[in-house]
Amino acid sequence: MKKLPLHWKIIIGMFLGIFFGLGLSFFPTGKIFISNFIKPFGTIFINLLKLIAIPLILASLIKGVSDLKDISKLSQMGGKTILTYLITTLTAVTIGLILVNVIQPGKSISEETRNELIEAYANDTKAKKQAAVKQQESGPLQALVDMIPSNIFLAASNNRNMLQVIFFALFFGIGMILLPSKKVKSVKNFFDSFNAIILKLIDLIMLAAPYGVFALLAALVVEAPSLELFQALALYAITLLLGLAAMILIYILIVKLFTKRKISFFVRGIAPAQLLAFSTSSSAATLPVTMECVEENLGVDEEVASFVLPIGATINMDGTSVYQGVAAVFIAQAFGLDLSLSAQLGIVFTATLASIGTAAVPSAGIVMLVIVLAQAGIPEAGLALIFAIDRPLDMCRTIVNVTGDAAVSMVVGKSIGKLKDSPIV
Ligand code: ASP
Repeated sequence: MKKLPLHWKIIIGMFLGIFFGLGLSFFPTGKIFISNFIKPFGTIFINLLKLIAIPLILASLIKGVSDLKDISKLSQMGGKTILTYLITTLTAVTIGLILVNVIQPGKSISEETRNELIEAYANDTKAKKQAAVKQQESGPLQALVDMIPSNIFLAASNNRNMLQVIFFALFFGIGMILLPSKKVKSVKNFFDSFNAIILKLIDLIMLAAPYGVFALLAALVVEAPSLELFQALALYAITLLLGLAAMILIYILIVKLFTKRKISFFVRGIAPAQLLAFSTSSSAATLPVTMECVEENLGVDEEVASFVLPIGATINMDGTSVYQGVAAVFIAQAFGLDLSLSAQLGIVFTATLASIGTAAVPSAGIVMLVIVLAQAGIPEAGLALIFAIDRPLDMCRTIVNVTGDAAVSMVVGKSIGKLKDSPIV
């Protein structure tokens, strides 16, 4: 198995995990065995990835920004990055809305199934709603206020505060650019070495990826809800998956058009990050690997990758955007509500903001969906409708979230001459 590329090892780990989970679910003690002896290894693997996220952001952004040497380069790259992210997000919500209006998956849900689902998931829904209330109670500029930490150690102590850490790293990096290079030389050397060490740690963690993924999927399979619920929601899931697939196609086209790279080059280069996004359901946990793939496989300069990707992992979630458009209208359809064009345009707006505000962790999208539903006047009880299959769909939307970041980093890299020429395979 030594010579096998990593993404194949991860795929094998994934399938073995699924089969192992399925096989053991036939035994009465199988589920307990997996929960007690297999799942912890998946949790350890995710913890290792999360452990590296904050140091990685700090090291790579500070190194990345201070490498830029002058501030105009930073604003040029920043402007391009944010604009491209915004465009892909708007495209994603729009695609979601178009598909859900054409396919109308909500119309196929009978009243009986609707009530059944709402009853079954009432408790889970309550927890998500409570989390969302907190977000909603704050004023319109709260997101901006939340971005600026009052204490960097507190900010760095919680992975949900990634935007605050990004702010600090950018601010620190800007301070370094503005000072004469002689003065900041030792700090620069420190962060360069720190960054190299973190990258090495990622290499080490990735050696465990196939086993981590095996454990994660085995646990997921034995904990999955019944198949019947999946069937009732199949059309909704298909609509969403079509939207997600459309986004992947768009990225491929964008990469082809703007960077002239071969499709297979992009697809193969980003595959390990996609597989990990699928297994962990978290863009933040996948970030270290996304960075590695983008730099080493796709040829994006470190300077660009270390700036564009941490920001993307935090604010650019195109998969989540498609999901919010599809899920909101699906729920409205299931409740027999007809949404006007202006209500749907409102969804474009709130879903865009909600996806920016979504934390890069599992199930964060469904919390933000509560806000989209509330703004559009769609019953929040509808969350219970989609709860049963949210996890597998979360895994799929996370793939799109990280692929979008990678595609944008290539485009931004190319536009400022920071995409390596050589690896056109
Ligand atoms: N799990 C997703 C991510 O980390 C966010 C979501 O729930 O949509 O990218």
